[in-house]
Amino acid sequence: MNLNEKQKLAAETLDGPVLVLAGPGTGKTELLSVRAANIIKSKKAKPENILILTYTNAAAKAMKERLVKILGPAAYNVETATFHSFANTVVLESDEAAEYIQERVQITDIEQIKLLEYILDNTEGIDKIRPFRAPYAFEREISQRITELKREGVSPAQFAEIIEKTEPDGAYIEEKHIERLKALATVYKLYEEYKAGKNKALFDDRGRYDYDDMILFAVEAIRNEPELARALRSQYTYIMVDEFQDTNGAQMDLLFELGTCHLGTGNSNLCCVGDDDQSIFRFQGASVANFRELKRRFPNLKEIPLEKNYRSTKEIISLAGRIINNLPVKERVHAKELAPETDFKKKTIEYDEFTTETEELLFIARRIKEIAKKEEVPLDEVAVLVRQRDDILKIVDTFLRAGIPYATDGKEDIAGEKRVRQMLDVLYFAHTPDIEVEQKDAYLYRILTADYMRIPMNDVLRFIAGVRAKKYDQRKKGEAPTVSMFSEYMGTCEKGTGRKSGVSPSDTSPLAALLYEAESKPVHAMLMQYIKDAGVMKFILEKYDKNDLLRIRDLRALTSFVNMVKESDIARPGITLKEFIDELETRKAHGMPLQGELVTATQEGVRIYTAHGSKGLEFHTVFIPFCLEKKRWPKRPQGVSIPLPPEVYKSKEVPTDKDILKQLDYYDETRLFYVASTRAKANLIYTASPTESAIPSSYLSGVESKEENRKEEELLKSVLTVTDAQDPFVGTDKVLKDLVAELSLNPTALNNYINCPRKYLYDDVLMLPSGKKQSLVFGNCAHKALEDVYGKFMKTGKFPDFAFFKEAFAKELNHEAPEAAIKTACLRQVETFKAWFKEESRLPVKPLGLEKRLVVQIEDDLKFSGKYDKTEALSGAVGAAIRVVDYKTGEPDKHVKGINNSLSKKIPVSSDEFEGYLRQLIAYKLLFDNDKNESQGRKVKEGVLVFLDPAKESVAKHDLEAGGFVKKKVELTDDMVAELESAIKDIRHRIKKLDFAKLPEIDEKPGKCGKSPNTCDFYDICWR
Ligand code: SF4
Repeated sequence: MNLNEKQKLAAETLDGPVLVLAGPGTGKTELLSVRAANIIKSKKAKPENILILTYTNAAAKAMKERLVKILGPAAYNVETATFHSFANTVVLESDEAAEYIQERVQITDIEQIKLLEYILDNTEGIDKIRPFRAPYAFEREISQRITELKREGVSPAQFAEIIEKTEPDGAYIEEKHIERLKALATVYKLYEEYKAGKNKALFDDRGRYDYDDMILFAVEAIRNEPELARALRSQYTYIMVDEFQDTNGAQMDLLFELGTCHLGTGNSNLCCVGDDDQSIFRFQGASVANFRELKRRFPNLKEIPLEKNYRSTKEIISLAGRIINNLPVKERVHAKELAPETDFKKKTIEYDEFTTETEELLFIARRIKEIAKKEEVPLDEVAVLVRQRDDILKIVDTFLRAGIPYATDGKEDIAGEKRVRQMLDVLYFAHTPDIEVEQKDAYLYRILTADYMRIPMNDVLRFIAGVRAKKYDQRKKGEAPTVSMFSEYMGTCEKGTGRKSGVSPSDTSPLAALLYEAESKPVHAMLMQYIKDAGVMKFILEKYDKNDLLRIRDLRALTSFVNMVKESDIARPGITLKEFIDELETRKAHGMPLQGELVTATQEGVRIYTAHGSKGLEFHTVFIPFCLEKKRWPKRPQGVSIPLPPEVYKSKEVPTDKDILKQLDYYDETRLFYVASTRAKANLIYTASPTESAIPSSYLSGVESKEENRKEEELLKSVLTVTDAQDPFVGTDKVLKDLVAELSLNPTALNNYINCPRKYLYDDVLMLPSGKKQSLVFGNCAHKALEDVYGKFMKTGKFPDFAFFKEAFAKELNHEAPEAAIKTACLRQVETFKAWFKEESRLPVKPLGLEKRLVVQIEDDLKFSGKYDKTEALSGAVGAAIRVVDYKTGEPDKHVKGINNSLSKKIPVSSDEFEGYLRQLIAYKLLFDNDKNESQGRKVKEGVLVFLDPAKESVAKHDLEAGGFVKKKVELTDDMVAELESAIKDIRHRIKKLDFAKLPEIDEKPGKCGKSPNTCDFYDICWR
């Protein structure tokens, strides 16, 4: 193998401590392999005396393969491992170290969360990191800080000592952090104790260990067991470390315990290879400090810089140099000047700018196809490197639609995959008790409309129509409806009725079997059975028989999920469905992914990696998308609520003010951008879609922005062809027409339609259950309680007290029978209304009418109905003027502003920008004034919205005062009513024409559509 002069020097300097400063593409892996071969050939040591520590398992494997090529089978005896797997070997394979792990088993991520929550719930004196109202608000950070402490090799006792001496430093540590750090020290100590098995309520006698324990156990064992230390030191006489810049405190401890430096000889045969410029896993100066520490320990350290780059074109090297030279000299160990040794005939550095992210993504897909074809570049020589992991899925979606094969780095969150969601629906359906009818029906609808069930939408609609008709029948007879989709569905299973009702026994039998087995079979076996009975696999194979990419992805998502369920079954034998769902809920609540592998690392295709995951790799062409300042490149630093003092990092720089801290963050981001850019050999393509609030990345200054010759038409066409999700209601006109034939409108349905016609279809036509929401249950109960309060006031002339209100509320809550958690939350929330109730009881106005249902005929076949909360005589007004009062739970701010805007800007009442609450008040006037029995010649002149929650902010313009209660009065006019009437007619017309269009989905905000600030209950049905 041909080595250049510097490489040769490094490969032949075998004795004593050596530091090789290896810039990107300078051939360090070859160098380490040749160096190991030289040690063996020169008979300084046998293969088993050499230890090579790498950063990843993949790097260890690559190193071993190279060694085998040079040395032959002898290379198998060279120990190449990551720090973690080496520590594993030390701990598990030596008798002395076995004591340190004993019988412990690895803690799962869910157990870790439960342990922390237990400590937070059962420990005194930690209020500063356990706020009363949000006890787990700091949980994530606590967990991160404990991990960092362990990675730096700081024990609970050492941390407590550091905290004792910690004082505010005007930059990193502020006054408020001191108490939080003390509380963290308590939690850390308990975490370690309980994990080790000190609390039998949590873990069995064996106790647990976590991922970071292995290296700590190994260090402790070597420090305390002289025999073990001697054995290891005499075995590994030559040690090499790759990616030294990212070695953390605990790994450094292990390294220095193994090397002989601690004996004070200063003559360890240790060779560290690293590049401070490529440090991307150590933060705020910690990596530079690693090098300083090495120099401190080994004054005779020989430094050899490698600067000849065999990877990239001179243009890429010069651009990368400009990027990294932004770092001040003191932030670098050695300012390297890379010299290019390679060139390509076809090469480019581009920055392409777009107006939307969709265009940007489509451009990347198109450009990849172009490069693969024209430049004959294999797809696995192309990479898209993103700043944050969530962006991977955006790229994946684009590639799936464009038919570009791809592979990602490691596990992905599979929770959003269509097949996984479908199976989650099935498990949740089986788990939901029959009495939670709404929730059960919501899952049932999703299952019945899932593609693999192959039930025509017309049949599902007929089934729903049948359920609705039976409900109406019962109501007509004065009975409380007992019919639900679920009860009807079970009836279909039992009675074996045919397609007439819409759903046939063959459709329902897999679900019937599932329910039958839900409590008895292991979750994994039950799910497998369902997949088989419902023919899910078969469906996927048939559906995508011509599209390998989509077929593989769906099958992988499904098998990944099944494997995850299986692993859970194995880890906790006998786990019940309820326990499994609890685990899923804990994951959801903590934002933890459902990890699965959608592709394998060996799969052919474009690499879609995070910039961090691209460390050590190289590609012919690299795309770096989303280059926006403070969004991705660089990313805005995230605030830290419990910062660890710099002493924890032993050698970390101590910043003197906040500005320096910000700069250190910026330098970390710059190194990451440098690493991503230097992965490219020939083509380096940056893209971005700037907006008014997001400018292109400052790293791109000097890179000319290319006017991409985008053919608008082509792009639009491809956007249209990628929206492949077929609307399920195509071909269901006849059934839908029947369903809307006799519908009447009401104020809520009207608002629903104006906000989103599709939501109206789900909510008001199909009456799809969406599960009981706390806000809805609470609102219903509060309304009923107020009706009782004012009813009593009308009868007795005496205004009841808060206890009466609460009792009426609780009574209604029992009627509503929501799930336990909602019930508890509602009972807690009602207590907060005491202040409002006191205010209301000061000068209560006797109602004229309460909760009256009114109906008016707007056209021959159009009824409009609604129920007002309360009417009052409008004192001081001329004639028989009426005020209509509507009570609202929830904060008033947004609505008050919305009303003022609607009136001042004269927004049409039919527009979705018109405030819905105001539209409701106008609707009550329309109803009251036109209902002869009710109005008896009187007219509503004023509407009042009474908010039970106080205002959040003070806004003088809108008459809002933070913490104050709001009664928003509005004058209601005949013109408003006329405008509303015409809007109702128009909407009725659109409904008849079956105009149930969806709103556009907001790319950036999953769960939200159009201008909506809120998530929609039907989001999954519409978009997944
Ligand atoms: S998800 Fe969006 S389109 Fe669908 S009903 Fe809800 S708001 Fe409408």
